[in-house]
Amino acid sequence: MLDRNVRPAVAAVLWAIAAAWFVSAGRAGGAPVFPEAAESGDERPRTVSKTPDNSLLPPQFRKLVSLHKPLGPPQPGDWLASHEESGQTYTEYVRGRPVRAEGRRRVIYIQPLGDFSPTERKIVELTAEYMGIFFQLPVRVRGDLSLALVPQRARRKHPAWGMSQVLSTYVLSDVLKPRLPPDAVAMIALTTSDLWPGEGWNFVFGQASLADRVGVWSMHRFGDPQKNEDAFRLTLRRTLATATHETGHMFSMEHCIFYECSMCGSNSLPEADHCPLWLCPQCLAKLCYATGANPQKRFKDLIAFAKAHGLPREEEFWQKSLDALAQK
Ligand SMILES: [Zn+2]
Ligand SMILES: [Zn+2]
Repeated sequence: MLDRNVRPAVAAVLWAIAAAWFVSAGRAGGAPVFPEAAESGDERPRTVSKTPDNSLLPPQFRKLVSLHKPLGPPQPGDWLASHEESGQTYTEYVRGRPVRAEGRRRVIYIQPLGDFSPTERKIVELTAEYMGIFFQLPVRVRGDLSLALVPQRARRKHPAWGMSQVLSTYVLSDVLKPRLPPDAVAMIALTTSDLWPGEGWNFVFGQASLADRVGVWSMHRFGDPQKNEDAFRLTLRRTLATATHETGHMFSMEHCIFYECSMCGSNSLPEADHCPLWLCPQCLAKLCYATGANPQKRFKDLIAFAKAHGLPREEEFWQKSLDALAQK
């Protein structure tokens, strides 16, 4: 979460650095990366949400449109208030030759990185199960890797907040990329350490490379799941949201600027918590194109997961979505 009290007077300068990093990283060497949440001192809206031309969607996804709430104008501090996003329709996505589950590359790998308590491990297991349902692809959890793999030059103490952080770009390029299994459509590391993506940024929840099939996300800011059952559910929900959002990026899905959707960018934990776990029709059509998922079966599996793990809002929404698909 961003702490506005410690934002220095030079925030505008930091923001300029952050924006420059984001833009250059987004275009560098054919391997764009999507950092999530960070420094932001500029409150002018940079992106206005749009309504896509839903008539260009495959017919079954058009049946879902009326269930979804268009994004309103960004509030001060929101992701779209401080980031320029052009939006990506289903048609643009298909034309862009996205990463898809094809040939032997069909498995999503989860790579635990660092130490996990038994409760955190339970969250990793449930996240693996949920990702298998969300993407309708096999998911495998790999053996742990130690954070000792990350050298001192890729670590820091946050200059104002003092907590230890690991450089997310190092994890992507030096820890994950050399270990990508030959059947991996995507490999995403999960860590309990806090992450930051480079100079000018406070932290990121996660970061993914659209072209290199690797991503990393952190549970560090998701609360203490051992406190009580509500805290466990909140940490679980946040982990599910981040895991699927980051993996969506790895299937070349860009941030959604159309509807309240799991692929919307977020600048803070409150903004991330406001995002639903579900995908809008544009993003769902992309997911099904990338993975070959059957939307009916996917909704049925999601409803069963939501029922079993205390996600009533999602259970109701996915049931409505399943019912809408059944209509002529
Ligand atoms: Zn994102
Ligand atoms: Zn969307």
